Amino acid sequence: MLTSVELSGRELGMMKLMADFFAEKPELATRIESYTTAHYALMTTYSENFGVPVEDAWKVFEEVERKVNEGEYIHVEAPYPLKKWYGLSKEEINMLRVLTDYFSANPRMSPESAFAATRTESIIEAYKWFFGTTEGNGEYARESYRNLMEKMQTALSVKLETLAPVVATPNPYEAVLKLLQIAGEKLKLDPGVHEVLKRPMRIIIVNVPVTMDDGSIRVFTGYRVQYNDVLGPTKGGTRYHPDLTLDEVIALAAWMTLKTAVTGLPLGGGKGGIRCNPKEMSPGELERLTRGYTRALARFIGPRSDVPAPDVYTDSQTMAWIMDEYSQIVGYNAFGVVTGKPVDVGGSLGRNEATSRGLMYTIIEAAKHLGIELRGTTVAVQGFGNVGFHAAKLLHEFGCKIVAVSDSKGGIFNPEGLNPADLMEHKNKTGSVAGYKNCRALSNGELLELECDILIPSALENQITKANAGKIKAKIVAEGANGPTTPDADETLYKNGVFVIPDVLANSGGVIVSYFEQVQNQMNYYWTEEEVRSKLENTIVNAFKDVYEVSEEYKVNMRIAAYMNAVKRLADAMSFRNRKTLVQVAEARNVAFE
Ligand code: NAD
Repeated sequence: MLTSVELSGRELGMMKLMADFFAEKPELATRIESYTTAHYALMTTYSENFGVPVEDAWKVFEEVERKVNEGEYIHVEAPYPLKKWYGLSKEEINMLRVLTDYFSANPRMSPESAFAATRTESIIEAYKWFFGTTEGNGEYARESYRNLMEKMQTALSVKLETLAPVVATPNPYEAVLKLLQIAGEKLKLDPGVHEVLKRPMRIIIVNVPVTMDDGSIRVFTGYRVQYNDVLGPTKGGTRYHPDLTLDEVIALAAWMTLKTAVTGLPLGGGKGGIRCNPKEMSPGELERLTRGYTRALARFIGPRSDVPAPDVYTDSQTMAWIMDEYSQIVGYNAFGVVTGKPVDVGGSLGRNEATSRGLMYTIIEAAKHLGIELRGTTVAVQGFGNVGFHAAKLLHEFGCKIVAVSDSKGGIFNPEGLNPADLMEHKNKTGSVAGYKNCRALSNGELLELECDILIPSALENQITKANAGKIKAKIVAEGANGPTTPDADETLYKNGVFVIPDVLANSGGVIVSYFEQVQNQMNYYWTEEEVRSKLENTIVNAFKDVYEVSEEYKVNMRIAAYMNAVKRLADAMSFRNRKTLVQVAEARNVAFE
């Protein structure tokens, strides 16, 4: 069966850059000549032009290469005013393959001895050599080349039809952009404001040398993305993960911007992280890495500018190290530089379980709207870390039955229900939920498709995709994790009547209590756990109601409604902060504006 795949914005950018190299643009021509290989020239130029690390450029190129080689038919969308799709001819597709191969790490379509006066001639030679075309002394190839170049340089988008199985590698940043587009269209958003929201305000990339326990030195790459600060200081977690990419951090930072906006907090959005494997590092190595990362970022973060927090594989200890290192740099106790700290050093009561408590409040609201009696319902939880464990524990205490749980090492199922606190003791002893008493093992895939009332993905992104969305049987999906559902899966869930509480709302309890922690740090006066809980409930339930209202009014799913609320708040703030619009507002009110 043929499957249609569209090239992502990043992949299209890569394709256009390849075409630019062939257009013999002088600035690019010198580049390609000064590098040892065309592959290296393309990767470094792409990395600089798009502000992404070279490793991310490789990944984009590999995807383009794979898709071009697997594409049976390739269509290009022409620019305005034509705005029409054109299919590439067989020769143009072959030419595209030769062109892509030219930039490959291991080119195989050109004769080794190929040497021609210009790059264009080398490509024509390679085409003739690989595809055996001799007609018209290469005129045929030359024509295909010219046509292809024109189409690639002007293409608005590229679509491929492929017989190959589509490996789902959705890019979370692309998902954010797609949803922003939908929300923007519904709100008739000013295109300029949309342009601002599409891009991160600032990206900081640092390389942190760390002396390892064996005396060797390793260098770790870290990121901090400050996406948008129109509503206040940027705020967002710090993720340690071996597969972390800048695109992922950008997407997470964009989500934070939407999350703080949808919940009405006076904060912007940011995110950070380090590409490392904390499971293979000793506590001492992790501390040195965290302190090095803090020193590298010190001038860019602070209680009034950007405030990190914990995320996957970081915790209150990590935050205490950041706070301590930063405090030493600035010369006073700067508790407010991070949130999620231990209570003894400026943390807030109730922060540990805040994300999950907020998640529970949103589930209670959703159940009310759906007319479901929550007590006695069955729950499956993917991921048994901070969010997954507390969500399971709180819902268990509420009276729900936790029937399945998983972590990175495997999953377990017991239709009679599990005791999360006891399960956590087992995990602490053995390192995983797998092997827990009276349970049958199940895979992560099986857990997602389980017959249950409530599904809580609380691990990583892209868990519910087009491939499994149709098989989800839960009535409510409450997104503890960020980005667990891809946009196309969302459509399927909505059609099938699954009520999705989107991440930006469902897991916003963490940032809400983080905000409370900042407030308490600034006052140096601390609230009781009860106060924290009731303020959290108030904030998140109000946000849920606002989103639900928009979803009903516009007949859209909860995610689009949440994006619409957030984007509207950001756009309003932007227009008030923009002098030009302020003049208009002042004029409209007949007030003098200097
Ligand atoms: P954590 O590191 O404490 O837990 C992550 C859990 O996911 C671990 O149990 C791990 O074993 C499991 N996991 C990893 N890969 C898995 C896989 N392939 N299948 C199943 N389980 C897997 O992290 P956390 O703080 O609980 O964060 C989890 C998610 O929630 C992330 O998406 C994070 O961005 C989001 N989130 C966290 C907070 C917070 O306050 N901690 C707030 C908002 C959102």
